[in-house]
Amino acid sequence: MTSEELSRLRDEKYNASIVHLDRVHHDLVIMRVRPDFPRPAHKPGQYTVLGLGYWEPRHEGCQAEQLDPLFLSRLARRSYSISCSVLDTEGELLEVAQTDWLEFYIVLVRNSGKAAAPVLTPRLFLLEQGSRLHLGEKIAGHYTLEGVKPDDSVIFLSTGTGEAPHNYMLLELLRANHRGRILSACCVRYKQDLGYRAIHDQLMGRYPNYTYLSLTTREGQGPGGKVYIQDLLSSGELERQLGRPLDPATTHVFLCGNPKMIGVAEKDRVTGEVRFPQPPGVIEILTRRGFQTDVPAQKLRGNIHYEEYW
Ligand SMILES: Cc1cc2nc3c(=O)[nH]c(=O)nc-3n(C[C@H](O)[C@H](O)[C@H](O)COP(=O)(O)OP(=O)(O)OC[C@H]3O[C@@H](n4cnc5c(N)ncnc54)[C@H](O)[C@@H]3O)c2cc1C
Repeated sequence: MTSEELSRLRDEKYNASIVHLDRVHHDLVIMRVRPDFPRPAHKPGQYTVLGLGYWEPRHEGCQAEQLDPLFLSRLARRSYSISCSVLDTEGELLEVAQTDWLEFYIVLVRNSGKAAAPVLTPRLFLLEQGSRLHLGEKIAGHYTLEGVKPDDSVIFLSTGTGEAPHNYMLLELLRANHRGRILSACCVRYKQDLGYRAIHDQLMGRYPNYTYLSLTTREGQGPGGKVYIQDLLSSGELERQLGRPLDPATTHVFLCGNPKMIGVAEKDRVTGEVRFPQPPGVIEILTRRGFQTDVPAQKLRGNIHYEEYW
């Protein structure tokens, strides 16, 4: 492709710019993207899409891609939850209405673990402040605080960048002076993968009803160094940290990230039997304790809400 063709494609397909880029480390970024169009109305917890042309270069050290030449002039698009740094530069709760960008918290997927190589993140991780990209004009999703009452306990459980929507919902709760307990736990491999850690520490100092727990699977906690979100529930540690039992009548649990942590039940195509994946995810553990998942197809709002990232 000639440089004229490349710049024509970029002009035609890109409709947003990166206005802030914080490299937490080489494989983890927090970026703010300003659309050329008015930022769509949305609710904390929702997601939109980011995209880059297949013609863009890929980061080194990633699984090799076999690219069909037919794709070369197309956009690669993936969904991203809208994230939030909760505090502004003065250390006050962020006034989102005063901003014109959307924040994203993204990890570089170097290897998909499948035959097809990861497409978008190896390209996204070559961008810098000022770079152009595609941003979806729609923001959507049922993963919101709908149904949460002011005195309810709100539990956010995530893996990796799955804490993105939780941080934005946390801002909504704090701005509304939420009276119930709020606990957010995030499970990562290493402590350096907690991109918002310092902000959570500040918030805990300021809001007695807020607790942030970080779990690592590759360093420093528990027997063998591994603690998963499921262990937090099974051991009773979550309730100890919450300071009260997990009561389905007054608790909403939000699960985001790795599908294995979430553990959505699957229906056997032949027998129709509903089975949970093994080892158990959080849904199975909570369902046994009287919790109920959302069923969007039936417009049923339960007290377990989830967003799977793959
Ligand atoms: C509603 C929604 C919101 C999302 N929000 C975020 C977000 O806020 N931040 C974020 O980093 N990602 C988020 N994702 C995942 C994101 O859409 C992409 O799948 C991810 O960035 C990988 O894109 P890719 O093109 O590089 O890899 P793809 O070509 O999409 O390959 C993905 C494959 O890589 C594997 N994989 C390993 N680690 C991950 C991982 N962390 N995420 C996805 N796949 C993984 C899986 O097997 C998956 O099938 C979200 C996904 C959904 C459905």
